Amino acid sequence: MTKSKPSVLILGGNFAGLGAAQKIRDYVKDKVDITVVDRKAYLDYIPNIPLEIFEGRDPAVTMHMELVSTLARDYVTFRQAEIMSIDLENRTVEVQPNERAGSPSYKISYDYLVVAVGAELALRDIEGFAEHGHTVTDAFHANKLIDYLNNDYKGGPIAVGSARFKQGTRGRPDWLPTAAAACEGPPVEVSLALAHWLQENNKGGPENITMFTPGKLIAEDAGEKVVGQLLEAASSMGFKYINQVEDIQRLTAEGIEFANGQKLETELNIVFPNWKPHAFLQGLPISDEVGFVVTDMRMRNPDYPEVFACGDAAALTVPKLGAIGHQEAEIVARQIAKEVGMMEAEKADAPWMPEVVCIGDMGGGKAFYIHATSWFGGDIQELRMGHLPYAQKLAYKEMFFRNHGRVPNWGLPLAKWSAENIKV
Ligand SMILES: Cc1cc2nc3c(=O)[nH]c(=O)nc-3n(C[C@H](O)[C@H](O)[C@H](O)COP(=O)(O)OP(=O)(O)OC[C@H]3O[C@@H](n4cnc5c(N)ncnc54)[C@H](O)[C@@H]3O)c2cc1C
Repeated sequence: MTKSKPSVLILGGNFAGLGAAQKIRDYVKDKVDITVVDRKAYLDYIPNIPLEIFEGRDPAVTMHMELVSTLARDYVTFRQAEIMSIDLENRTVEVQPNERAGSPSYKISYDYLVVAVGAELALRDIEGFAEHGHTVTDAFHANKLIDYLNNDYKGGPIAVGSARFKQGTRGRPDWLPTAAAACEGPPVEVSLALAHWLQENNKGGPENITMFTPGKLIAEDAGEKVVGQLLEAASSMGFKYINQVEDIQRLTAEGIEFANGQKLETELNIVFPNWKPHAFLQGLPISDEVGFVVTDMRMRNPDYPEVFACGDAAALTVPKLGAIGHQEAEIVARQIAKEVGMMEAEKADAPWMPEVVCIGDMGGGKAFYIHATSWFGGDIQELRMGHLPYAQKLAYKEMFFRNHGRVPNWGLPLAKWSAENIKV
């Protein structure tokens, strides 16, 4: 059978994969066939999981958005399967359908490949995590933490922080710094919101919590000015803070041990792991030495120009933030539009600087809002705290679900403008 249209195969259907599918359809209209492969048939709205935990809701109920009908609205085909391997020379991907156990694997061919599979959150690499650790990265662990807080926590010391991020170097541009942790907005958010929860439940407050970071500065991608303000606010509330712990060595019944030799006696450890590339990407010629996909600023692999990456799977995405993946999905779509003659090169190739945009819950109907480009060489470092960012965090999720993942073009700029200009 001869193919009438070029085929775009998108691996992964969460923020980056869904965003890429929708934007490609917007720009390319019906000039390509688009297929998304994911092992699960829903989008997991990860950024609001911590908020759901401290407001006592199960994120599996509130944070999953149906993916198959969402994609069908844009005539995008969905295939539920485990992605097994990529054959770059023959332009095929091996997948194994996973709705029922026991399926053989199949090959899907592509003209353009978009790798948007995120990364493994390597909790099992942290010694003692299963027995002595908690996290907030998915619904299973969220519910485990909710149960622990409600039934077992006795009011003792708590450590919140990240393991070391192992970032690759091959193909990395000079301007992109080395990050000690993959994504440190969430540990700051969890510390603040948890302190409020402890107060509300008569189990203590900020003084129970030590925030730690493997690096010199927690959330360093937000910029020194912003982090300075955040830390000042946190220390005046009573939080403890330790830096340069290098890595989490192990979790034990007594507490947490760090790679620099420091130890803390704790009752509860809430930790964020290394973001580790999926095994099937490791060792491929498109990947750096750890397994993230190397791209130029047009999110295109230099050696295999028909291969694109966006979101956490891309080596360029540091910190690992959904907001950056969203920006990259737009770039991928423009490049594919250029390829098929649907966009002028001047528009498709417009220069781009990534932006950190992060809204974190603080409990009590308040949130912090960070907008920064200093990590990438820019000069923006904005921090706001209060009720407005909290309302925006909820409104953004509402808008995302109601619009089936399509955040209107004015959504992000409006959120930035209102957070930076309106005081509530
Ligand atoms: C607790 C927490 C809070 C966060 N808060 C924020 C925030 O406030 N703002 C922000 O911008 N970012 C935040 N982030 C980061 C954000 O969640 C990620 O950057 C974002 O999810 C990355 O999107 P992605 O689509 O690239 O990857 P993912 O969301 O990881 O999606 C990858 C997709 O690929 C699929 N997949 C992977 N491997 C396979 C395989 N082998 N076969 C089939 N399917 C596969 C997965 O099922 C998944 O659907 C937070 C992260 C955490 C953990």
